[in-house]
Amino acid sequence: MDIGAYILSEYIPAKPLVGNLEVCFTGKEQTQIDTCAQLRCGEVLKFPFARPDFQPRSVVIKGNTLLVAADKATETKRVVELTLESSFDYQPGDTIGIVPSNKPELVEKLLHRLELKDQADTSCHLKLVLHCANKSAKLPAHIPTATSPREILTHCLSLCFVPQKQLLSALAGFTSNERERSFLACLSSKQATKHYNSLILEQGLLFMEILKLCGDCRPPLAFLAEHLPRLLPRPYSIANSPLEAGDQELRIIYSLLSHKPGVTTSMLEARVQQINPEQPANVVIYPRVNNAFRYTEQDLGSNQILIAVGTGLAPFLGFLAHKEKLISQQPQRERGHSWLYVGAKTPEAILKRDQLEAWHKSAVLERLRMCHSRGESPGYVQEMLAEDGEDLVKFILKPETVIYVCADGAKISQSIANGLSLCLQKVLHLTEEESFRQLKELKAQGKYREDVWL
Ligand SMILES: Cc1cc2nc3c(=O)[nH]c(=O)nc-3n(C[C@H](O)[C@H](O)[C@H](O)COP(=O)(O)OP(=O)(O)OC[C@H]3O[C@@H](n4cnc5c(N)ncnc54)[C@H](O)[C@@H]3O)c2cc1C
Repeated sequence: MDIGAYILSEYIPAKPLVGNLEVCFTGKEQTQIDTCAQLRCGEVLKFPFARPDFQPRSVVIKGNTLLVAADKATETKRVVELTLESSFDYQPGDTIGIVPSNKPELVEKLLHRLELKDQADTSCHLKLVLHCANKSAKLPAHIPTATSPREILTHCLSLCFVPQKQLLSALAGFTSNERERSFLACLSSKQATKHYNSLILEQGLLFMEILKLCGDCRPPLAFLAEHLPRLLPRPYSIANSPLEAGDQELRIIYSLLSHKPGVTTSMLEARVQQINPEQPANVVIYPRVNNAFRYTEQDLGSNQILIAVGTGLAPFLGFLAHKEKLISQQPQRERGHSWLYVGAKTPEAILKRDQLEAWHKSAVLERLRMCHSRGESPGYVQEMLAEDGEDLVKFILKPETVIYVCADGAKISQSIANGLSLCLQKVLHLTEEESFRQLKELKAQGKYREDVWL
């Protein structure tokens, strides 16, 4: 890419972020090395949605199974199931947080760029600069008091994020190359908003990619520590029943983008490749607070309409496994009906298809409908909902029926809501407005529960 093409002849750079911190080295090698440095930050550091009294901890990855192979032709993502050691109770539908780390190669490159290769593992701490004029400047809570440059860049800071204009403007001050300085300063200006929108917001150029384009830009570590966002945990749904595995283990399922895979999924992939009996791979997890998107023993008597697209099937695999186990443990108990609508790109991309069919045969699932967007009609979940409109609306209106939707994207979730609205309009002769009001009421009554992932 020619950065020169993005430099305007006139522009006013945004007000740059200012550095208020400095890094002090002790001269000694860092001795304490953890799987995750954020665990040493003490109680001031909160982990989003963590269940009270549960600190993140490193657990062993006990196994991994490839569920779907990546396929370029159909743009199918690789999907892997992990079995993790667990030390907390959970129910199907609950989620865990996984604390990620940045790729070692990426960190190595950045250390090299910052001219910190020789001090990468030297013990250091951050402090406010002497006579700091900025009253609100403070030390980042997500960096431990005693640390090292490698640790800060590996465990504490996000390196792949969308850079704001003020950050770009500050980066302009850290390069000796005139073209890079003009590019960064110009991109931060109001006048170049069109370029910012197309490069950063539409093409998704991330902080590390900007640094790659500007090879002479060397922001100081202290500046990055102060202004780069915290590397945050990502949520994953538990994809099994505790009755299958006991509370000692749990399973999660992740999908991996082929082009530009994300931070956590890349880390999980790398750990899976490392697994060997002598040296088990670990990952840092914690249980997140639960909500109504779960299936427990109390739900055995109620009905469910489960609607999933892609990896969104993960929590429902837990729901149905739990139902199967509860039925075998309590055969005399009255049980509700479960209908599953699931969409994927191809038949091979439907997670655990054989298991779904077995559940359908054994009446764990009364109705199983599958569709493939790269196949014959119906290609989308909402088309299957339309085909079943009459039955579906009757089933929805039963007091003990709950709709659960799980999709990896707000757009898919909206398309499913539109599909349900069309069913209500057609069967109950409602206007569009009335149908959406009814869906809103269903949500308020807890009869329509969604889990939107990205
Ligand atoms: C309540 C909840 C439950 C979730 N459960 C699961 C689950 O069970 N399994 C699961 O795989 N994900 C799940 N997610 C999504 C998950 O938390 C991550 O967002 C996802 O795995 C990407 O994380 P990353 O760190 O690899 O990507 P990031 O580094 O955060 O990626 C940056 C961007 O790349 C895109 N991206 C990255 N990977 C993917 C992908 N595989 N598909 C589509 N876009 C992608 C996204 O736009 C993302 O914003 C859940 C999210 C929520 C909110």
